[in-house]
Amino acid sequence: MAKINGVLGEIDTARLGFTLMHEHILVANWAMRQAFAGWLDREAHIRHAVGEVRAAKERGVTTLVDLTPINLGRDIDIIRTVAERAEVQVIAATGFYWTEEPWLQGWEADRLVELLIKDITHGIQGTSAKAGIIKCATDRLGVTELNRKLLQVAARLHRATGVPISTHTDVHTQTGVAQQDVFAEEGVDLGRVVIGHCGDTEDVEHLEKILQRGSFIGMDRFGLDFMLPMEKRVSVIAELCRRGWVGQLVLSHDSCCHIDWFPVEMVRQLAPRWTFRHIPDDVIPALRREGVTDEHIRTMTVDNPRRVFERQGAY
Ligand SMILES: [Zn+2]
Repeated sequence: MAKINGVLGEIDTARLGFTLMHEHILVANWAMRQAFAGWLDREAHIRHAVGEVRAAKERGVTTLVDLTPINLGRDIDIIRTVAERAEVQVIAATGFYWTEEPWLQGWEADRLVELLIKDITHGIQGTSAKAGIIKCATDRLGVTELNRKLLQVAARLHRATGVPISTHTDVHTQTGVAQQDVFAEEGVDLGRVVIGHCGDTEDVEHLEKILQRGSFIGMDRFGLDFMLPMEKRVSVIAELCRRGWVGQLVLSHDSCCHIDWFPVEMVRQLAPRWTFRHIPDDVIPALRREGVTDEHIRTMTVDNPRRVFERQGAY
């Protein structure tokens, strides 16, 4: 048992329950919001998000990890309002996305750590809502000079606070392994890291390379069937369970109640089941059909999330 940071106060890890480990209440560009008043209808978005989170709650979800990084528009006031109104535990993140932001270039890793650590120890954007997880990302560009710095920032923040790391990767270019290399160089216990977006591949041997080093892996894009259909994602999980890896798998959708990268209707058309409800409604029954036991489902949805967040202050 441990106390960890939730957006509405401390959460006892024993009370995390069914946890979706990688979701987004809102992804919306701060600059576009500032420049164009109609870019985001704040109140309409909150109403919609509360409905989505409540629907997950009705299906047994008790905790949602919001992994929106600062530079994808993390808005703590909206995250808190939604958590409060939907009465669901929400854990927010600190950290940066993989994009090569010009303003990142001139700053040393340790100066960025100094800046971000206050999100974990004091609160985000002047509120008392503290970050409970560290987000970082590596995508198709791989570990560039700037990306290495971002991974170092995440590693050092983690070592200073004991708060776990959860990543975005591009599994097809195997960036998860490259992230593990940088974290290992920085002295991170790889068992405190979730390597994300591993559910986008059927390459079980590659996933085992990540698992063998002790990290959790995120089978966390259920609903993005155009990247890999649900049935294939489920088969990979069933196979990993058969091979004895159930203790290192976590489930989620990477779903956004709103994402401003595309017009809303395009998102709905492209990924109609990409909501917080898809795992309870469709994925869990499909896992059972593939022979995954209820005990293993509980391990992935309840016990593993708890284990990710426990063992604070291990350094
Ligand atoms: Zn995400």
